[in-house]
Amino acid sequence: MITLPPHLEDAYRTLLARFVAIPSVGAEGRGQDDMAETLGEALAELGLTVEVHGTDGAPVVFAERRVAGAPTVLFYNHYDVQPADPLELWESDPFLLTERDGMLYGRGASDDKGQLVSRIIALRWLRERHGELPFGVVFVVEGEEEIGSPNMAAYVEAQRDRLAADVAFWEFGGVDGHDRPTLVCGLKGIACVDLSLRTADFDLHSANGPVVQNAAWRLAAAVASLRDDDGRVLIDGFYDAVRPPTDTERRYVEAAPADDDAFAEHIGVERFLGGVSGVEYQRRAQLEPTINVNGIHSGYGGPGMKTVLPASATAKLDFRLVPDQNPLEIVALLHQHLERLGFDDVVVNLAEEPEWPARVDPEHPWLSHAAAALEEAYGQPAVVIVSSGGSGPLHPFVEILDLPVAMIGVGYPGSRVHSPNENVRMVDVHRGTYATVRTLERWAGLAPPE
Ligand SMILES: [Zn+2]
Repeated sequence: MITLPPHLEDAYRTLLARFVAIPSVGAEGRGQDDMAETLGEALAELGLTVEVHGTDGAPVVFAERRVAGAPTVLFYNHYDVQPADPLELWESDPFLLTERDGMLYGRGASDDKGQLVSRIIALRWLRERHGELPFGVVFVVEGEEEIGSPNMAAYVEAQRDRLAADVAFWEFGGVDGHDRPTLVCGLKGIACVDLSLRTADFDLHSANGPVVQNAAWRLAAAVASLRDDDGRVLIDGFYDAVRPPTDTERRYVEAAPADDDAFAEHIGVERFLGGVSGVEYQRRAQLEPTINVNGIHSGYGGPGMKTVLPASATAKLDFRLVPDQNPLEIVALLHQHLERLGFDDVVVNLAEEPEWPARVDPEHPWLSHAAAALEEAYGQPAVVIVSSGGSGPLHPFVEILDLPVAMIGVGYPGSRVHSPNENVRMVDVHRGTYATVRTLERWAGLAPPE
């Protein structure tokens, strides 16, 4: 197996330990300035010119080194992390990088500090292999990814000239549950909405049931009207903007390994929505939009009985969208749907800044270099995933900057991102960092040293 030279393996641990020690928790708004500064120092050591750009939220760390007449690679990453709670479930201090059994544990060890440090070490390795790099490098590292990147689209739009590049690496990537390298080519969009409803001034005795509307019943009916039991969304016009998959996308979806049986067993479900399996499971997971209920709350849920008729109810929903659905139009369609069915007393609030869906052509030459590099690094072909089920601020990079974006990296399904005992495996650090190096060498036409 390919491994990092020992001094770079040490450098990976040292730099990751420095980053993990800074609790840059986006949701708690702490540690961001500290982290931006420390990251800036690490990027400056690579020979990049660093600027810290203010936004309406946490600053963006921007770094560049341009090479006249040569193309440029852009790295998008984030330096914020999820909160470490619940602390008692960690086996070691979340902000003290700790090695056990070939894994490095700490908040951000994978998402995204571990991935970011892998990119930095890949560039150091490349410079040791070839001397000064013959291509330009740009880093865009934001501090608000974990709270939905509310300022990223506006930032990219405003800085589009400074961010001009030819190819890009995304912030995450890694292997699947069978240790196969993956190459992800798209992300779904997301719109989170809150529904709320009030049917009386205060909760009533349930003896009023025959004559007073119950907020829980009414909101449940509104929510139930949005989707059928097989998962089909029932909002008029919801699917109108869905772009049919290209032949290439369809081919990759059909070729995706069928792991649904193992997944069903793992999560303890008998049957997937609509009874899908195999290719149809993959098609839905990768290409279909969906609406999800995050939670519904109303009335009494404690022990024993409380015969109450609740006066208010709330629900949190999220839409996961595919190209070319526009999140704002989808929310407008939701409004129309509720009104048409007479639910005009249900108040709809867009909870967060939405994200637009985006995809990259899996056969773009840049992605072909990445796929070939993965095969070299892992000794087996990459699993090409047309779209992740998850979301992120990919759209402005693809649509405004016109970048092909490769999603490869050092994660694995056991990384426990967002959870206690988050970790990165050293075996992935070796292979994943090498894959980044080889992608860039192939793209830049650099022969690997003897
Ligand atoms: Zn995350």
